[in-house]
Parts: sequence; structure tokens; C-alpha cells
Amino acid sequence: MTWSFETDPEWQEQLDWVSEFVINEIEPLEFFIRSPRDRHDPLVRELVFPLREQVKARGLWACHLGPELGGPGFGQVKLALLNEVLGTSPLAPSIFGANAPDSGNSEILAQFGTADQKERFLVPLLEGELNSAFAMTEPHSGADPKTLRTSAELDGDEWVITGEKWFASNARNADFFIMWAVTDPDQTPYQRSSMLIVPSDTPGVEFVRHVGLANEPPGDGNQGYLRFDGARVPADNLLGDRGQAFVLAQTRLGGGRVHIAMRTVGLVARALDMMCERAVSRETQGEVLARKQMVQEMIADSWLELEQFRLLVLRTAWRIDRLQDYKAVRADIAAVKAMAPTVLRNVASRALQIHGSLGVTNEMPFMDMLLHSFVIGIGDGPTEVHKVTLARQIAGRYRPAEGLFPSRHIPARRAAAAARYREVLDRHGIDAARPISANVG
Ligand SMILES: Cc1cc2nc3c(=O)[nH]c(=O)nc-3n(C[C@H](O)[C@H](O)[C@H](O)COP(=O)(O)OP(=O)(O)OC[C@H]3O[C@@H](n4cnc5c(N)ncnc54)[C@H](O)[C@@H]3O)c2cc1C
Repeated sequence: MTWSFETDPEWQEQLDWVSEFVINEIEPLEFFIRSPRDRHDPLVRELVFPLREQVKARGLWACHLGPELGGPGFGQVKLALLNEVLGTSPLAPSIFGANAPDSGNSEILAQFGTADQKERFLVPLLEGELNSAFAMTEPHSGADPKTLRTSAELDGDEWVITGEKWFASNARNADFFIMWAVTDPDQTPYQRSSMLIVPSDTPGVEFVRHVGLANEPPGDGNQGYLRFDGARVPADNLLGDRGQAFVLAQTRLGGGRVHIAMRTVGLVARALDMMCERAVSRETQGEVLARKQMVQEMIADSWLELEQFRLLVLRTAWRIDRLQDYKAVRADIAAVKAMAPTVLRNVASRALQIHGSLGVTNEMPFMDMLLHSFVIGIGDGPTEVHKVTLARQIAGRYRPAEGLFPSRHIPARRAAAAARYREVLDRHGIDAARPISANVG
């Protein structure tokens, strides 16, 4: 038997260190620091940079990368357990060198970058000396990249970029963008786009505005709305092959999506902890909330959803390690990415409800958790698209029934059974046309 639900003692030791580190060193900074990668912020230099050094000394920096890509390469199961802890603090991923969009960008730079691109962009990105953004989505289109329009035309030995990008997370702190541009408009929809590396100080690149999420002040958000007005970059800033934007995006997003799910497990567990603490603390009508049956149902449902989700995430991680091929685990990744928003929304909503009036205030994190549940149901592809992928993959494993009726149609199976056992049934005087029960699967 090889099934196991245990964590290596050495890894558990690391996880225990990370848990303490997140609670004691990182969480207090959440009240003062919004962009932990903003190296121009003196507070970040003084308070965040030393923490990053501790993480590096512990061998836990950029754990999402394998050794061939410059990371420690612990594999996805260990990463899942680590990400559960990092998911409880919005600052933690960045302090562990594993924050989006840098993490995904480092993956495609490592896999598709030239030696020169790796030296100029990947090495300083991994060291935390440069920041990056990923600019794919446009104001008119996101979920269907075939319809993206921003173009890059080769003029001599330079790409000339024209168009707009929207929701480029972290663009305001980025030293360079990895961007999606239509380079070959006459090719098929899946082959007409390429990825380019664009330094953020390139003339012709401007911010239309910094879009904020619903809990951020207007104009002060982290989602870059960018305009490229004839911005020029050298021809060799092409990342990967020309026309291969879809291939690079799949590589980038496959890992990113499963990491979102891993971190969501941690956040859901945090919501459940808060729900239960309140349920055993708050009294109404002479007893604690935890004794009310409807509250018990909320706790039970939340635990069930969390544990199912966590097991699916861990199994997905295990399959990635086993198969070493993101294409082979497309269905699993789509499943956990589709499941994450719903589980978080359900559990955070119940935790909020159990906290009563306090639950809807800005003194508790539930509204932020709910907003986050919507964010993870939209970013990196909407839930609907992942469900479509999942359904296609599952349905694709089946063949049409040969005849008019399904292969498990009871009359045909009954006739076959009667034919097979006719002699025995006859001997015992049993009428084969009248079996005792036929409604089993
Ligand atoms: C917080 C956040 C960070 C982001 N960061 C980045 C980033 O760094 N870089 C970047 O390039 N983009 C980023 N995005 C953009 C994200 O990738 C897009 O929002 C996403 O792909 C959806 O595109 P859209 O917003 O244009 O929605 P649309 O494409 O307009 O879709 C709108 C809605 O239509 C429905 N829908 C869409 N397609 C289908 C379908 N096939 N079947 C059924 N229903 C469907 C879904 O409900 C979807 O939410 C970010 C988004 C968020 C919210």
C-alpha cells in the first residue's frame, strides 16, 4: 500500500517554522505595508528585506521552481503544504519569493528565455532585485485571448508596440512587463501572438491609471491600466518563439492556478478557525452558538467542503509530481481552480454570518475574504472556463454507446445474464425473465 496522509517530519519542521514566522514576523506588517516588493519604500527595505534573507537562509526562497529553473525543487506536494501556510497572509508569498505575477514570469523566463534574457531579467527577478508584471488582458477582452488586439510590428531590429493592457497586477512596481502582443495577424488565432519583454521605463509606455479593487481607494490600486503608444523594444526581447504566446501562457498559468488553490486552502482553514472560535465563545438564549443546530450545520458543511477541497488539491499536487506534465493534469488543475472560489465564498460567508454585526465590519477580514473569492474566480481565467475545460476532459474519456440504448441498459444486461445462466436457472426452476432485482448499477 502506498497511500499516505502523513508529512515528512523534516518538512513538518519547516512548516512549523513557517507558521510561526508568518504569524509573528509577517502578519504584523500587514498593517503598514501594502506592496512588499516596492523596493523604493523605506519601510519595505527596513522591515521586509531582512525577512526575505531569513527565508533564503532557511532554503525556502522561490520554492515553486525546480532546481533546473533555479529553485530548490521540493515538488508540488510539499509546495502545497507550504502554500497553505503562505495563503493566510497577503504578504507572505512575496516574502517567500513566490508571489504572482513574478512567480509565473520566472517560470516562463527560465523555460523559454535566452541566456541573455535570463541574465538580465530572470536572475535579478529571482534575487528579488527586479519586479515584473504580466500584461495580457485588455480592456475589451480577457477570458478569450484569441481576441486580444495589442500589436507589435517588427521595424528593422525593433518591435513597435501599440495598444492597451488592463489589470496588469503589480505594474506600478514593475521594472519590466512580460506582455502578450499580436505579431502575426495573418496566422491562425492560436499562432498569431507572441510574448515580449518590455522594460517599464520604455518611452511610449504610460499608465492610464492604477485600477483598484473594491476595498482599495480610487486611483490607488495595484492593477495597471497601460497604454503602449509606439513603444519600441529590441527584436531580441521576444520571449520564446514567435507566434507561441499560447504555449507560454499555458506553461505560466498551469502552475499559477494550482498555487492559487493551495493558498486558498489555507485561507479557508483560517475562516473555519475563526468561525469555530466565535461559535464556542458567543452565547445567545442561554447557550453558546456552537450548540445551535443550524450553526452546527454551518460548521459541519464548512469542514466537509474544506477537507474535500484540500484532498483534491493535494492529489492534484501529487499527480503533478508523479506525471511531470501539466497537460496530463489539466482536468485536475481546472477542477481545483474552479472549486477554490466557491469553497472560500461559502466558508467565509458562514464565518461572517456567525460573527453577526461584527462580521460585516472592517474590524474583521470576512468582506476581504469574500472579495478575494470573486477575484480568484475571475483572475487566471473565470470559473466557467475552467469548468468547461474540466467537463471536456471528463467527457472526452468516454465513447458513444454502440446501439440505440445505453451500454448499461437493464433489459439487454438481463437478457445476457439469462443466456449465460440459462442451464443453471432451468435446473433450479427459476424463470429467467423474472429476476429478483434488476436495479443495481
Ligand atoms: C485581481 C485580478 C488580477 C489580475 N491580474 C492580471 C494580470 O496580472 N495580468 C493580466 O493580463 N490579467 C490579469 N487579470 C485579468 C484576468 O485574467 C481577467 O479578468 C480574466 O481573464 C477575465 O477576463 P475579463 O475580466 O475581461 O472578463 P470577460 O472575458 O469579459 O468575462 C466576463 C465574464 O464572462 C463569463 N465568461 C467568460 N468566458 C466564458 C465562457 N467561455 N463560458 C461561460 N462564461 C464565460 C465569466 O463569468 C466572466 O467572469 C486579473 C484579474 C483580477 C480580477
